[in-house]
Amino acid sequence: MADKISILDMATFCKKKGLVYPSGEIYGGLAGFWDFGPLGVEFKNNIKKEWWKFHVQSREDIVGIDGSIITNPNVWKASGHIDNFSDVYVRCKECKKDNKLDKNEIGKVKCECGGEYDVVGDLNLMFKTNVGPVEGNVSYLRPETAQLMFADFRLVAENARMKLPFGIAQIGKAFRNEISPRDFLFRSREFEQMEIEYFVHPDKIKKCPYIKDVLDYEINVLSAELQKKDKDAVKMTMKKALEKKIIKTEWHAYWLATEHKWFVDLGANPDNFRIRQHVAEELSHYALDTWDLDYKFPFGWKELQGMANRTDFDLQQHIKVSKTDLSLFDNDSNKKVVPHVVAEPSQGVERAMLVFLFDAYNYDKKRGNIVLKLHSKLAPVKIGIFPLATKLKDNGRKIYDLLKNDFMCQFDTAGSVGKRYARSDEIGIPFCVTFDFDSLKDKQVTIRSRDTTKQIRVKIKELKDILRKLLDGEKLEGFGKIITSKSS
Ligand SMILES: [Zn+2]
Repeated sequence: MADKISILDMATFCKKKGLVYPSGEIYGGLAGFWDFGPLGVEFKNNIKKEWWKFHVQSREDIVGIDGSIITNPNVWKASGHIDNFSDVYVRCKECKKDNKLDKNEIGKVKCECGGEYDVVGDLNLMFKTNVGPVEGNVSYLRPETAQLMFADFRLVAENARMKLPFGIAQIGKAFRNEISPRDFLFRSREFEQMEIEYFVHPDKIKKCPYIKDVLDYEINVLSAELQKKDKDAVKMTMKKALEKKIIKTEWHAYWLATEHKWFVDLGANPDNFRIRQHVAEELSHYALDTWDLDYKFPFGWKELQGMANRTDFDLQQHIKVSKTDLSLFDNDSNKKVVPHVVAEPSQGVERAMLVFLFDAYNYDKKRGNIVLKLHSKLAPVKIGIFPLATKLKDNGRKIYDLLKNDFMCQFDTAGSVGKRYARSDEIGIPFCVTFDFDSLKDKQVTIRSRDTTKQIRVKIKELKDILRKLLDGEKLEGFGKIITSKSS
């Protein structure tokens, strides 16, 4: 595998190609905030669409909601965010750079310049705002999407007639007043989450009815024990990890494998991922066993998702503070139960963007240009349409009109065809269609594949169907299957 470019080079690439800009850059930007350009918004929407299809629309056991960003502040009282969602704010005595530390890191961790830290104080990470004209009517921009899935829990369960086990999913913006946003999109102050809270009957937290689907699935597993011995992750099936009691519950194995699979099915390289068990010191008060899904970024292994068993902590908190019964009646046991959350598969949209971009980014020496091998489902633009000569512009435009309602297309007449191919490779357009002088006579056009550069000649009346098949990953005689970054 080729070496990854740095996160800084990725930020430069994203700006140049219209994926991501520093927010309000003409005024100097604002640290931790980003704007998504014409290609970035398409890319982001595609990621969210695929996530929603995979996690919600194709499953009977998960339904979605769209909660508001600002809500009753008691939600954050109950969740503990008002009292506990803070970082220790420190400043380096030498270079004066601000940073944040966990409470147990004070006095132990030094600045990257080697300097010692001064503690400035605690900083709550929620953005505060005032609701309505009266001062003092405080609420917050939500720091996570999770809480309204708990607060709305019983309404959703009843409306959608859900039976345990089931999940509630949500995609939306969240805001954290990070002390030191860094690494481009990786740690920003405004971001978007794709999140599921998965509820299970408290007496049935051991058994996952879907476990068969993932038993043969392989992932690099880094157990707490391997970390103690300073060893690397070992590739194993979920079956083996459960048998050896490395992963303690079927639900964790199921969700870790499922989330890994979501990335890999969309073209990410499976070897750039691992699942890592939290060591004893990392476990939070409610967590029995916690795993992270990690990805190997150019700045090191970083967490993409945390998979913790939250027990019934959140629902019980909302029951207590709101004085509302959020339990469900269970027909099997004939009693009311407060479900446990065994896993909360939660993924930042921007972090997913980075993963797919890093795995797709290739510099092709032979072509002399970057080839962004994004999966066709994620590619911001699906089809490039090039009339070979200025004279053929109107004919090319007709091809564009033929396809534009079915695929996100780009019509490009500027420069040589070679230049146009290079430009389309760089933004990851999977297929380009060229209209040439022969097309006038034989009513055929040429399709060129981004990944193989191979070309086929097809009838215009069959073009739409063929493109649809190609974008679905079907293999076509003499053309080669569409190759995604996974297989490069
Ligand atoms: Zn320093």
